[in-house]
Amino acid sequence: MIPFLDLKAQARTIGREIDVAIARAVGDERSARRLEAGAFEERFADYCNVGCCRAVNSGASALHLALLAAGVGPGDEVITVSMNFVATTAAIIRCRATPVFVDVDPITWTMNPSLIEAAITKKTKAILPAQLHGLMADMDPIMSIARRHGLFVIEDAAQAHGAEYKSKRAGSIGDLGCFSFYPDKNLGAYGEAGAVVTDHPELARRVSQLLDRAQGGERNHVLARYDDRMDEVQAAVLNVKMDYIESWTEARRSIAAQYDQALSSRARAHPRPPSHSRHVYHIYALRHPHRDEALEMLRGAGIGVGIHYAVPVHLQKSYVELGYRVGDLPVSERLASEFLSLPVYPELLPDRPSVVASELKKIAAPEAQVFRSDWAFQNKMPRHGLVA
Ligand SMILES: *Cc1c(COP(=O)(O)O)cnc(C)c1O
Repeated sequence: MIPFLDLKAQARTIGREIDVAIARAVGDERSARRLEAGAFEERFADYCNVGCCRAVNSGASALHLALLAAGVGPGDEVITVSMNFVATTAAIIRCRATPVFVDVDPITWTMNPSLIEAAITKKTKAILPAQLHGLMADMDPIMSIARRHGLFVIEDAAQAHGAEYKSKRAGSIGDLGCFSFYPDKNLGAYGEAGAVVTDHPELARRVSQLLDRAQGGERNHVLARYDDRMDEVQAAVLNVKMDYIESWTEARRSIAAQYDQALSSRARAHPRPPSHSRHVYHIYALRHPHRDEALEMLRGAGIGVGIHYAVPVHLQKSYVELGYRVGDLPVSERLASEFLSLPVYPELLPDRPSVVASELKKIAAPEAQVFRSDWAFQNKMPRHGLVA
């Protein structure tokens, strides 16, 4: 058995250290002073290289608060991607704004900047790219389009702790960055947790205003206050894990490199991060022309595999009222039918990636077929010139 994720293995290495940290954090009145959360905010802001981090109770809350801080409200439009976890679209709708989906690039699988301008209207307020699977979207053109049109950029960095684009950390390029620390993320709490980061003092003030009971030391409560702060237990867990995040990220990258190498004959099917990007491999996904078959067979061989994501958000039942149809976002839809995620986590034993890769090769379609279908796909699809 090779599980898709093994949180017990991580608990075996640092579980005791975390138990001690939790006991220290919550045993007495310290816990009401939010010392752990405060310490975590400082550390995570440093890690992302931004001036401000606010610790919250989930990635979904982080997205909601970031959108509110950017002034997104009823009637506004937010340009985002459909090849992503549904929470992002849900956060936009929670602000009573309308998500407007653009397709992703067929090579990087992230927001295709060349499609953004055609989606901008008078109602557009923000652009919300996702750093899918741990790879940064092409942020330079996204930022320059946003600046030209006076729009906010909010990064959904929930899968991208420590990812980099041209030496800049995830969360630090957009006006606001949103993280999740759900247990299965690269940096995971023991339950729900998230963070909003920003380098803009005014946006930092607005996020804090939405979170805190009283502002400026006055006992003057803000009208709409969101009970979204991170609790001390989660902060204590995360403060311990911050010591390990860099070595864990490097472990993920080295497992990914093993997969890349083992699957190099299928070069067009595995992730190809641009050389200026640091991919942190929250998910190691590849494209397989016979995905469902491959999924079945790998599971049959005792290998935990997944799909991220099998139904793009614009085709999810809960969002039919947005009015999208099959064919509207051809790259996202194609990826949804081909994506297959392999096990990638720091505790994966060193010999496992090659075991997984050889199982996969046994059942892979003939090489020629993989290539043919792939070239047709790439030649037909709009493509941003990100990868040399
Ligand atoms: C996990 C995740 C979220 C939501 O985070 P929660 O902490 O589960 O609310 C949002 N976006 C992406 C891309 C995610 O992976």
